[in-house]
Amino acid sequence: MKSKVYFIRSDKADDLQSVNKRLHLLLENSGILSPVAKSGRVVVKVHFGEEGNTGYVRPEHLRLICDKISACGGMPVLSDANTLYRGRRLNSADHLKLAYEHGFTREVCGAEVVIPDDTRKEETVSVEINRQFIKEAKLARIFVESDALVAVSHFKGHTLTGFGGALKNLGMGCATREGKLAQHCDLAPVVRVEECIGCGECKRICPVSAISLRDGKSVIDASKCIGCASCVAACPTFAMFIDLHAGDKVKYKMVEYASAVLKKMGGKIAFINFALKINKECDCWGMENPRIAPDVGIFASYDPVSVDKASLDMVNKICGKDIFKDTHPDQDGMKQLEYAEEIGLGNLDYDLVEL
Ligand code: SF4
Ligand code: SF4
Repeated sequence: MKSKVYFIRSDKADDLQSVNKRLHLLLENSGILSPVAKSGRVVVKVHFGEEGNTGYVRPEHLRLICDKISACGGMPVLSDANTLYRGRRLNSADHLKLAYEHGFTREVCGAEVVIPDDTRKEETVSVEINRQFIKEAKLARIFVESDALVAVSHFKGHTLTGFGGALKNLGMGCATREGKLAQHCDLAPVVRVEECIGCGECKRICPVSAISLRDGKSVIDASKCIGCASCVAACPTFAMFIDLHAGDKVKYKMVEYASAVLKKMGGKIAFINFALKINKECDCWGMENPRIAPDVGIFASYDPVSVDKASLDMVNKICGKDIFKDTHPDQDGMKQLEYAEEIGLGNLDYDLVEL
């Protein structure tokens, strides 16, 4: 059965009022938020953008979405999980500060910002999924124990997955740092010996004593490592290295992680993709990166596979070619969508309802 994807054109990403007029029409005419945002806490999964990057969905657009959730009877809360990599979103305090600096305040958005702290056990949860690559997904609790979830995603290119949209926002975005590491690599981090100054910070922080110092350099016992990534965060010289080019596995693992969120929240999730300001790389990059396609518009659906496929098809149609393959020739982004359909997360076939 085909899923419905609502779509509204919008070709002026930098004109916030113009985008908001289109977004308003999309929310009103699709009614996408009404069934999921009826009551209780509605967590709005967003990306607040790394410092130096402006690709993220603007707080002014979140205002409209949060107001609509409130009008439906729900209580919106904006949230994102901390990152695996050193930057301004590595811990909850800095992440929150950056979100405010990027304009995601209660005054602008009409909702509180909550950054779950994955160093606190009570803010994380394991979800058993027993999939091919992931048996237990490690997620920030807020994303699976709220009354509803609205995933607001910036549709853009990505070094590891070809493109990123709703599935990436769910799978990678809702994971704790431990969960992100589990998706990014199969192995423990490794040490760039020449950059290790032997300070022992990694050894001190490792929760399972997997690290020792030998001849003034850090050595990891991969058989003990639980992949928590604490040492990656703690190393002052960035000597810890994670293999980011783990082939297609990262796509499949990300999709399996998305399945964990859907398992817990299925039926109470809506997806809104902004195919505007379509950059080459994701919003985690701490710098501006080139736009690779014209602004296309905004998509909404209850099906994460359909909403990403519709976004992909429309962007490529307007570009006249597969722009994501063009810019990331080593990655086939379709693999994430095909695998997601294969394991029952949604449909590649969709009915596009243009508003
Ligand atoms: S990833 Fe975690 S468990 Fe593994 S070596 Fe680093 S701190 Fe220790
Ligand atoms: S924290 Fe970094 S620099 Fe310090 S010992 Fe560990 S790997 Fe080396």
